[in-house]
Amino acid sequence: MRTIDFRSDTLTKPTDEMRRLMYEAEVGDDVYGEDPTVRRLEELAAETVGHEAALFVTSGTQGNQLALLSYCRSGEEVIVGEDSHIYLYEGAAPAALGGIQLRPVAETEGCMDLAAAVRAIRDETDIHQPRTRVLCVENTHNKAGGRVIPVEKMEQLYMLAKKRGLSVHMDGARLFNAVVASGASAKQYGQYVDSVQFCLSKGLSAPVGSVLTGTKEFIAEARRWRKRLGGGMRQAGVIAAPGIYALENMVERLEEDHANARELAVRLNELPGLKVQAESVETNIVMCEIIEGGHSAESFRDLLLENGIKASPFGEGVVRFVTNRHVAAEDIEETVQRIKKALHRAVLR
Ligand SMILES: *Cc1c(COP(=O)(O)O)cnc(C)c1O
Repeated sequence: MRTIDFRSDTLTKPTDEMRRLMYEAEVGDDVYGEDPTVRRLEELAAETVGHEAALFVTSGTQGNQLALLSYCRSGEEVIVGEDSHIYLYEGAAPAALGGIQLRPVAETEGCMDLAAAVRAIRDETDIHQPRTRVLCVENTHNKAGGRVIPVEKMEQLYMLAKKRGLSVHMDGARLFNAVVASGASAKQYGQYVDSVQFCLSKGLSAPVGSVLTGTKEFIAEARRWRKRLGGGMRQAGVIAAPGIYALENMVERLEEDHANARELAVRLNELPGLKVQAESVETNIVMCEIIEGGHSAESFRDLLLENGIKASPFGEGVVRFVTNRHVAAEDIEETVQRIKKALHRAVLR
């Protein structure tokens, strides 16, 4: 039985064309600023979001952390969504590496509530309180099931931040999923943030890396932090080359992943014992709730596994399916049939 793997879009392997470009990439020592392929990727990335400069980093986590370390001094505070990747899945790095405190606030449909964010901003004149420096948003929002933040909402959030003298960082690990789903350009999003991190290694299928963008001054500071944390890479052109290809050629195909996710959501929701809010599936992530049949997220994951389907438990009674380049439209039908039969057999057992 062929395995259909929905665990993550990070599992996507480089295309043959990417491998050819890796082989042929012109390289140099990037710590000396002499890798032409890395420079080309950074220029392309900056231009894509309409920012002055960009930095090629090892991972999305590194990009987010370099941003916070560059904005904040020890003892300062960053406002994040309570279900954000930065808060939940980055090993408390801001505290561990920078003495930075995260202040989680409530989120709705994958975006922090503006009123909650306003309430969380500290009083600059009170010597008891830490200084608030940054607002972080996540687009698309992973834990919320790939929700897209509309550009209009970003504009509101940005205006609010500027009024209070704060910077705005976007964890745009899946920024291009938001771009494809909303029809807004990366530049439109770029206009309402001071910095953005986006992953080349998720749905865009490059093997390694993310890019952090912002002003020249900010990127110079982030470059210092990257070196300090051991992220200064030498002939990194071999991994930057597929990143360039990803930005130029792999963005539009994300719509296929989105169409597959929408289909999967509707079909899973029709199965007994499962519930998916299909109307909230905007991109490539489907959160499936197990509402009957006595399965926990882990036992449902195991049942799927016995039937050649891989997905990830994602909180109590929830399993996450992420569509990606290695899942074809036909695989959705096959997946639904396998799950349907497995649930039926489980009832008879
Ligand atoms: C994957 C992801 C990251 C981190 O990316 P890595 O390259 O795995 O470090 C950050 N934020 C979000 C929302 C993600 O989905």
